[in-house]
Amino acid sequence: MPIAPAAKISFPLDIPQVDVLATEQTRDNKFIITVESRCETTQCGVCKQEISCNYGVGQAVRLRHLPILGRETYIDIRPKRAQCPTCQHNPTTTQTLPWYAQRSPHTQAYERYLMKQLIGSTVADVSLKENIGYDAVLGVLERQVDKEVNWDEVDNLDTIGIDEVAHRKGRKRYRAVITARQDDGNVIILTVLNNRKKRR
Ligand SMILES: [Zn+2]
Repeated sequence: MPIAPAAKISFPLDIPQVDVLATEQTRDNKFIITVESRCETTQCGVCKQEISCNYGVGQAVRLRHLPILGRETYIDIRPKRAQCPTCQHNPTTTQTLPWYAQRSPHTQAYERYLMKQLIGSTVADVSLKENIGYDAVLGVLERQVDKEVNWDEVDNLDTIGIDEVAHRKGRKRYRAVITARQDDGNVIILTVLNNRKKRR
């Protein structure tokens, strides 16, 4: 009997303003999704005016994204570049997009996911489970420290959680992650506090 092709599904990629150019499954079972930004403008890095992306694309960037079917998933993008027509010496700028930070190896969605993995866990555990470097996980945690609460996305403060995340093994350094359970059951991270002493 001929082998039937595996059942397939398609679903929306939850990243705004991009087109998917290719999807690939690597031999070691990772998903690589190549995307292109639909947005044709960016802010000039010098004068801050909105300029059109007319200067090709930069080096490909690979960003870890939320897992699909439990597999490591990466987004590949070549960010668009723009040259300012009015600034002196016509400086070039690489387009920035709201769903990843420049120089971060992760999408913002994946960083939020990592933060949730950190609740009640340790940096070392999350690093092992997610197969990413200890310092990368620590960097995600550190970027959240003392970040202002985005009150717009908070609709319920009835159930607040305080969880300790071991920061440095053996050195008794902890971060306190403050969370709030929302009406839809989602747990959101309000903020991360510095150097909290572990309770005995
Ligand atoms: Zn400019």
